[in-house]
Amino acid sequence: MSGIYIHIPFCKQACSYCDFHFSTKMSSKDKMIDALCKELKMRKASFANDQIASIYFGGGTPSVLSPIEIERLIETVYLHYQITATPEITLEANPDDLSEEYIKALAKTKLNRLSIGVQSFHQEDLSFMNRAHNAGQSKEALHWVQEYFDNYSIDLIYGVPRVGMASEEQDLLWSENVKTALGFSPNHISAYALTVEPKTLLDHQIKTGKLPPLDESRAHMQFNELRRLLKDAAYDHYEFSNFSKQGFHAVNNSAYWEGKPYIGIGPSAHSYDGESRSWNSASNPLYIKAISEGTRPFEVEYLSVSERYNEYIMTGLRTSKGVELAKISALFGQKYASYTLREAQKKIAEGHLELVHESVLKVTQSGLFFTDGIAAQLFYID
Ligand code: SF4
Repeated sequence: MSGIYIHIPFCKQACSYCDFHFSTKMSSKDKMIDALCKELKMRKASFANDQIASIYFGGGTPSVLSPIEIERLIETVYLHYQITATPEITLEANPDDLSEEYIKALAKTKLNRLSIGVQSFHQEDLSFMNRAHNAGQSKEALHWVQEYFDNYSIDLIYGVPRVGMASEEQDLLWSENVKTALGFSPNHISAYALTVEPKTLLDHQIKTGKLPPLDESRAHMQFNELRRLLKDAAYDHYEFSNFSKQGFHAVNNSAYWEGKPYIGIGPSAHSYDGESRSWNSASNPLYIKAISEGTRPFEVEYLSVSERYNEYIMTGLRTSKGVELAKISALFGQKYASYTLREAQKKIAEGHLELVHESVLKVTQSGLFFTDGIAAQLFYID
């Protein structure tokens, strides 16, 4: 079973840390929706013999679309693809878009899950990140979401600095954020560390000395506190950045981590068919023009066995399932399974990795915050 990702490349304003593809000019929105529908139709052969288990609207800011526009896109998927009986259909939404009227209208579409970009319940953090919404809007939006949607996720960001504030106070504010999110009892919480991506405003502010570099030890402390609070509240920490109540793992993202195929529709969207990865042009005008002329503007890269192995190691170690040696052997060859085991020994001795039942490698509690670095040490370089 596969998934469809639809990229909505518009945002009201640029958040200081963001390097996703979006435009703040919305004048081409109607043409963009026509193009997205056309690309969905053009690529229907990709999944002619497969069923779609999830549809995910990401961005950008999908909640800048009207419920009618969202419904049109969902109906286009239903028209051209085979959909499972109970697909997960998610829309990423920003709090400033979520009036009661809008949420009520969304609930009448086939959407059955919202992922809400709260990021912080503190106004200072939101201003620091240049988010378009304010702290009050998040709480009000969540109140209405609870009323009309059974299934929703809250996004938070940790490691947001407060220049001049003591570390303990910063950590306390983060704890408050997590507790406030828990107060709404969402089925799912995603929490990401604030990171400095090249060419973002945050990058510029740090490089020009307007802000000090981010403090990784704060992020580490806050990650541990996040895990402690969510564990106490019985959330399953099933992927490095993702926590859920029982039975509410995100279907769409879990499929990525399991290496299942998916197609990405829209500018900058990535697709994966099990052997190659392709990505559409990250230009709204170029994308609209090409699709209207009947061509998909994309680049493709065929993944070598080693590259596919490296991806499995990275995504697998980030999940609570870990990586299976038998699966590595079956997918990539015994050579890779032996290599994994050999390279893992040092991290096992350090206590950052464990070999469960002599068949599954998992990151331990002490290694968890360093998962990406540990995975990189198991990469196979041709
Ligand atoms: S709303 Fe999301 S996609 Fe848009 S600028 Fe902010 S973080 Fe980036």
